[in-house]
Amino acid sequence: MSAAVDPSSDADADVDVDVAVVGGGAAGLAAAVALGRSLRSVVVVDAGEPRNAPAAHAFDVLGREGIGPLDLLAAGREEARGYGVRFLADRVVTADREVAGFRLGLLGGSGVRARRLLLATGLVDELPEVPGLRRWWGTGVLHCPFCHGYEVRGQHVGVLGSRPGSLHQVLLFRALTDRVTFFRQDLDVPPETAAQFRALGVEVVEGAVRGLTGEPGALRVDVGGAGVEVEALVVAPWFRARGEVFAQLGGELATNAVGEFVPVQPGGATSLPGVWAAGNVADPGAMVAAATGAGVLAGVALHGDLVQEDVGALVA
Ligand SMILES: Cc1cc2nc3c(=O)[nH]c(=O)nc-3n(C[C@H](O)[C@H](O)[C@H](O)COP(=O)(O)OP(=O)(O)OC[C@H]3O[C@@H](n4cnc5c(N)ncnc54)[C@H](O)[C@@H]3O)c2cc1C
Repeated sequence: MSAAVDPSSDADADVDVDVAVVGGGAAGLAAAVALGRSLRSVVVVDAGEPRNAPAAHAFDVLGREGIGPLDLLAAGREEARGYGVRFLADRVVTADREVAGFRLGLLGGSGVRARRLLLATGLVDELPEVPGLRRWWGTGVLHCPFCHGYEVRGQHVGVLGSRPGSLHQVLLFRALTDRVTFFRQDLDVPPETAAQFRALGVEVVEGAVRGLTGEPGALRVDVGGAGVEVEALVVAPWFRARGEVFAQLGGELATNAVGEFVPVQPGGATSLPGVWAAGNVADPGAMVAAATGAGVLAGVALHGDLVQEDVGALVA
């Protein structure tokens, strides 16, 4: 279990609830609030590793622009607690289907029984293997022009050629600054893209990138023994869904050009009866607001599903 778990966790052994939410990031907390407001019994099990924790601020969060990512989640937990939602700072390591729902086994040894599951476990950003790069992930090493591009506008931005999406990143960051250097490495650049780069004055540097030194604002990219100075470096991670619980229950992850994810219907229902998913685990492109929205919609859908089951039992 991570050392970064919520220290204010409600210490509890086995709990029995309507809905177990696995993951207490934006998606899981938003769902928990919606479910709590519908008087559902809810437990959120959270291992405390939200994806944007390395960043100091979260942007494009309407009404809370620039808030610290952990501050936003702390506020969300308090709101959820206000509706009776319970929290376990732990990690779900096993999941089994039972007659009336599911049983989750937690790393700490306790368990949770729930009629429905919401998977809001997020994703892991798999970064290119360049020495020194991970150190500045979320500060000087960026991926999302909408999250942190404004903060590096007008600066000298390097883009590491690692995945086909790197080419699009060049264009998006070039819209924020006229100083973009593209470290091509062995990434193919189609002739029409090369022409766009020339027209935009994007410098293309050849050779394998061997390391990153310096610090945000003054990074040095080691390419072929020479150093190229940039103020920020952009990379294209592979977005790997934290889909272990889904897979344990028999679900199959899907893959697209940018990563893998749990496939869902609108509202978050997965192919597995009783299992919903929301946020980055189901949508690698979802920023905080979209993850929040998906969580609310999943909470609404889960409540509706339980209402149907309860009323169905009454008239059966
Ligand atoms: C560096 C960086 C900066 C970003 N900046 C912005 C920004 O400025 N604005 C913006 O809108 N978006 C930003 N994003 C995107 C943002 O991080 C995501 O949109 C958001 O975190 C998605 O929320 P989520 O709830 O789906 O997942 P997460 O926030 O990742 O939360 C998932 C939670 O589930 C927990 N978990 C996983 N597996 C288990 C398990 N088995 N048992 C229990 N708990 C588990 C994790 O520990 C984690 O706490 C940024 C991303 C990165 C990488």
